[in-house]
Amino acid sequence: MAELPGTARTVIIGGGAVGASCLFHLAKKGWTDSLLLEKDELTSGSTWHAAGNVPTFSASWSVMNMQRYSAELYRGLADEVDYPMNYHVTGSIRLAHSDDRMKEFERVVGMGRYQGMDVRICPVEELKDHYPFLETHALAGALYDPYDGDIDPAQLTQALAKGARDLGARVVRFCPVTGVRRQGGEWVVATGQGEVRCEYVVNAAGYRGREVGAMFGRSVPMVAMSHQYLLTEPIPEIEAWSRESGRKLPLLRDVDTSWYLRQEKFGLNLGPYERNCRAHWVTSDDPMPEDFSFQLYPDDLDRLEWYVEDAVARVPLLGEGGVSRVINGPIPYTPDGNPLIGPMPGVAAAFEACVFTFGIAQAGGAGKVLAEWVVDGGTEWDMWSCDPRRFMDYADQDHALAKAVEVYGHEYAMHFPHHAWPAGRDKRLSPVHGRIRDLGAQFGAYGGWERANWFARAGDDTSESATRTWAREGPWFPRIREECLAVRDAAGILDLPGFSRFHVAGPGAADWLRSLVTGALPRVGRVGLVYFADDRGRIVTEMSVTRLGDDEMLLITAAAAEWHDRDWLLGNLPAGSSIAIENRTETQACQILSGPRSRDILRAVSDADLARPWLDWQRCRIAGSEVLLLRVSYVGELGWEIHSEVADTPAVFDAVWKAGAGHGLRPFGMFAMDSLRLEKGYRAWKGDLSTDYTVLEGGLDRFVRWEKLAFTGRGALERERQRGPDRRFATLVVDARECDAPYMSTVWRDGEVVGETTSGGWGHRVEASIALAMVRSDLAEPGTGLEVEIYGERRPAVVQPDRPLYDPDNEKLRS
Ligand SMILES: Cc1cc2nc3c(=O)[nH]c(=O)nc-3n(C[C@H](O)[C@H](O)[C@H](O)COP(=O)(O)OP(=O)(O)OC[C@H]3O[C@@H](n4cnc5c(N)ncnc54)[C@H](O)[C@@H]3O)c2cc1C
Repeated sequence: MAELPGTARTVIIGGGAVGASCLFHLAKKGWTDSLLLEKDELTSGSTWHAAGNVPTFSASWSVMNMQRYSAELYRGLADEVDYPMNYHVTGSIRLAHSDDRMKEFERVVGMGRYQGMDVRICPVEELKDHYPFLETHALAGALYDPYDGDIDPAQLTQALAKGARDLGARVVRFCPVTGVRRQGGEWVVATGQGEVRCEYVVNAAGYRGREVGAMFGRSVPMVAMSHQYLLTEPIPEIEAWSRESGRKLPLLRDVDTSWYLRQEKFGLNLGPYERNCRAHWVTSDDPMPEDFSFQLYPDDLDRLEWYVEDAVARVPLLGEGGVSRVINGPIPYTPDGNPLIGPMPGVAAAFEACVFTFGIAQAGGAGKVLAEWVVDGGTEWDMWSCDPRRFMDYADQDHALAKAVEVYGHEYAMHFPHHAWPAGRDKRLSPVHGRIRDLGAQFGAYGGWERANWFARAGDDTSESATRTWAREGPWFPRIREECLAVRDAAGILDLPGFSRFHVAGPGAADWLRSLVTGALPRVGRVGLVYFADDRGRIVTEMSVTRLGDDEMLLITAAAAEWHDRDWLLGNLPAGSSIAIENRTETQACQILSGPRSRDILRAVSDADLARPWLDWQRCRIAGSEVLLLRVSYVGELGWEIHSEVADTPAVFDAVWKAGAGHGLRPFGMFAMDSLRLEKGYRAWKGDLSTDYTVLEGGLDRFVRWEKLAFTGRGALERERQRGPDRRFATLVVDARECDAPYMSTVWRDGEVVGETTSGGWGHRVEASIALAMVRSDLAEPGTGLEVEIYGERRPAVVQPDRPLYDPDNEKLRS
């Protein structure tokens, strides 16, 4: 057995498919001084018993990227590392029971095609050509994915480990990691066999990710669910068909009734994601055993009864093969079902690649992404959907459990644009949450914060089922319109808890910040918007800067960005710096007051100087409390942000609300805000603003100060400026039908894909469907005719001038 070395550059904790892929990809990037430590034998966690399905399908662009990469890697892996293995590319069929499901498939077909994959819609009449044993009752159609298949998970892991070893990386088995400590700028990893010093550590411990995370003082949001599949005896008809056709049946998924069915040798493998699911190891009477290597939970077939019956009705042959074996194993879930890949929040030089629900399908891509994080400090594709920093403190064990059960039971659910998943809610509440609720707020969670999406009136249908549609219109639509028009014609108030706030102060603070952002800092007394680029010039984040003093600033950023931006700021702070960064997210609250009457309302309740111009800040008093008043507006009207201490907020809110009564003040919600900001072309973080785009591609040129000698990303942006960006941000007006363009809808010209949308929605002030998009530079000229594919239908669109659609000269903002 391999001996434990005393040092390594990177240590990976965990030898499942994911850990092995991380090791392989680090070695491929030249980091051969990497070491994988496995508690037991490789594959002994969840990997050994996985069904081995390798789908490429995902409604998430980045997850699809990862899975597509895996499938490509696996196709050539046996040859690449000289380790024969069973990988069957059988194709797959996903059945749809409704038109809404077909729309989801159309969208994924569009994304898949854009990624170079020939996934396609399959009409019901053709299904039996692919799957002769299928009953086709109650179906609307299907999606056919020729790249889907299954792989032997143990062979995959061994192949990845062999590939890594051949390149010089090391694997030490039966070597449990028992603790870590930081010493002299290095990690010391303690194991049953001794200690290893290293620069970087990766937690790839699968369902034990939480246990290993605790060694770093990190609370990993996850729960192990029990997932079962059952294997049948060989079925003669399948054997005969397979022998005659020389192939395996495609993988079948009935996503609306929630199961997959795969040919295993000449029998079948049925795996349901049941609603009445079960979490393990979450209560004190069910502790996680110290060792569960190569073990399973007891069979629990009663839970699957309904699903088995449904599958038998769909493929009657399934009922003919007796059950030969049941596999019931731990499958880890984060609160949104995506894995954790990336920097460990708040911990330097440590990373996570754990809590994979589809770790076999994703291992290849995950290894690539993790290796990029470690070696390059950033990834080729924006991977926010899997970034560990997307969950913050609110994601405690109660939340993780509630969400894991919800996500598992809805594993194949559609994610509709106006729908809010109900489990694990009310984790972070505004100080005026009750008041907002009483006004009719229909809430959604944003970085754990409950915010109103829209305000219902008596009699409106506020049921969850009403939101199960891709359509723009529903009970919310007339209310959003009223809210938008109130903001345009009178005034609106939006309770916006959870703005991430960082107070930055100390000698040199301004110079330091200047070196990180592409543009200029506002003068003292002013507010400005700044962009942070990475060293490739790509958009990392956006913040507003309130310049409180020469070296004192308040940085405000998205609720979801709290840990991401905190770590970016702290990670860029020079060692020994006397600049202090204080996170004030929880101590203050914010109301957005916007609309032409907002000045009158504020005049009645505050001692503020309301003649001060746009992008100015001041302190003033409202209802006896000191507040920070910023004259900015994300909705494009005269307006202010009112930042108050949490304890003062109810009184501040009440005073403004009361004063607004005679001015037509209405509460508005996030859906209205999204519509209003689209009309102004204001970008949203991690939709329009992501590391998939550079600052110049994003059309943010006016936020770059070229005369600054140095700032992160300058070199890359300078080179891009000289050659001209390949893609450009553009605002499109789309002749859409009942649905607006969702994120990552493809943009077409002359039968060719020329870009993608980054967000879309209806503008009530301009009465148009708007899409923000990234298109080939030569097509970003105003007036250019394009098409946007919305759920499979290409709709005409026109590129708009490079200025806001609504109030292009910002007169209302300045009024
Ligand atoms: C029944 C079932 C069917 C499934 N089918 C599929 C499927 O078809 N397709 C798919 O993509 N996914 C499937 N999955 C999920 C899949 O099994 C997991 O996502 C995947 O195996 C996770 O791999 P991993 O490397 O992240 O974790 P694991 O395989 O769990 O590996 C983690 C490793 O870390 C080691 N470890 C833990 N703590 C320590 C420590 N302190 N020191 C050293 N080592 C440590 C463990 O021993 C373990 O070997 C299925 C899961 C189940 C339960």
